[in-house]
Amino acid sequence: MTHTLVIGGGIAGLSAAWALATDREVVLLEREAMLATHSSARNAQIWLPIDDDRSTGPLAVRSAQLWTQLLGSEPRWLKRCGAVAIVTADRQAAAVRGARRGGVTAAPIDRARLRELAPEVADLPGGAVALEVNGAGVFEPSVMMDTLAAACRARGVNMQTRANVVALELHGAEISGVRLADGTSIRADEVVLAAGAWASALAETIARPVDLVPYRRHLVLLEAQRASPSIVWNFAEPSEVYWRSESGGVLVSPCDQVASEPCLPVTDPCALEHLAERLAHIAPDLCQAPVRTSWACLRTFAPDRELVLGQDPAISGLAWFAGLGGRGMTIGLAGGELLATAMRGEPHPLLAGMRVGRSV
Ligand SMILES: Cc1cc2nc3c(=O)[nH]c(=O)nc-3n(C[C@H](O)[C@H](O)[C@H](O)COP(=O)(O)OP(=O)(O)OC[C@H]3O[C@@H](n4cnc5c(N)ncnc54)[C@H](O)[C@@H]3O)c2cc1C
Repeated sequence: MTHTLVIGGGIAGLSAAWALATDREVVLLEREAMLATHSSARNAQIWLPIDDDRSTGPLAVRSAQLWTQLLGSEPRWLKRCGAVAIVTADRQAAAVRGARRGGVTAAPIDRARLRELAPEVADLPGGAVALEVNGAGVFEPSVMMDTLAAACRARGVNMQTRANVVALELHGAEISGVRLADGTSIRADEVVLAAGAWASALAETIARPVDLVPYRRHLVLLEAQRASPSIVWNFAEPSEVYWRSESGGVLVSPCDQVASEPCLPVTDPCALEHLAERLAHIAPDLCQAPVRTSWACLRTFAPDRELVLGQDPAISGLAWFAGLGGRGMTIGLAGGELLATAMRGEPHPLLAGMRVGRSV
């Protein structure tokens, strides 16, 4: 039996471990005391698969099928409350196409319907149109992560927390295992890097450069009331911002993206000013609302914003599942399945675009 180590206990690591455990002996190593405490727990919980790229649609549709299988029914993990996507007119066709591929529908709406779905929108940005996205929704990360961890255990995955990997280990050009902070080494036939913002730093321990950059983004919970359950996402630059109802308030993001070291970022007061500026354009009433709490976390991207997924062509036995960016909770579970396909050496049309090292 192949011995496989998966580094990282967020959605990427858990999805990879679950998929690989059908024909491998898998050990998952997570540095924190609990699984899924970084991006996979600190995100906006929005299911809005309308990106018109190659992978979002098919991976979102497949992930939804897998989550519903794992949880027994869709409402246990996803509430399809719908969304309003505000896009510039030149992006309308792409958003409608992306939505269709992602298993939701997007169609333009008039001012009256916009007022029903998003009464707080004072005015659309110049040249923008509003689309109603049926099938978009809000998911439950804690339920999803707990269920996936249980599914991993049921397949025999050995999950170790407080296991801080400080270096990958090589034998020639082949991976031989990892070293932990307490000095112990763990031998393995394969290592999967699913360490989120830390993936490329770990690869640097064997001098393997792969271009992945973490970007900090804030989320802010406002003391405000909304009359509609719809998510609202204004994609029209330069004032991208989104919000949705949450815990009797409104969860908002100024859609900031500042390059960061891998870490648990502290909040920056400038983000609140930035948020107020962005809301002033589109939803001035929300601008006045007091802040209940705020936090920040990292979204990690390859330069072309596609996943880094599959075997590393330079290091035998090393595989990657990284660069999940801002859609990891939506595509991650199917991404793990795709990684297992790649590691079995089977072809798949999406794999070429995700090749490890393509952007170095
Ligand atoms: C503000 C924000 C909002 C978002 N909103 C959405 C959204 O609405 N919808 C959506 O689909 N996605 C969203 N995302 C994106 C999504 O959250 C991420 O793409 C996804 O969680 C990334 O998962 P991951 O497993 O790669 O990383 P993580 O969840 O960060 O997991 C990586 C794990 O690796 C562990 N690790 C790192 N280094 C080591 C080491 N040396 N040894 C052992 N373990 C290690 C870490 O402790 C961590 O647990 C959002 C992200 C952010 C930041």
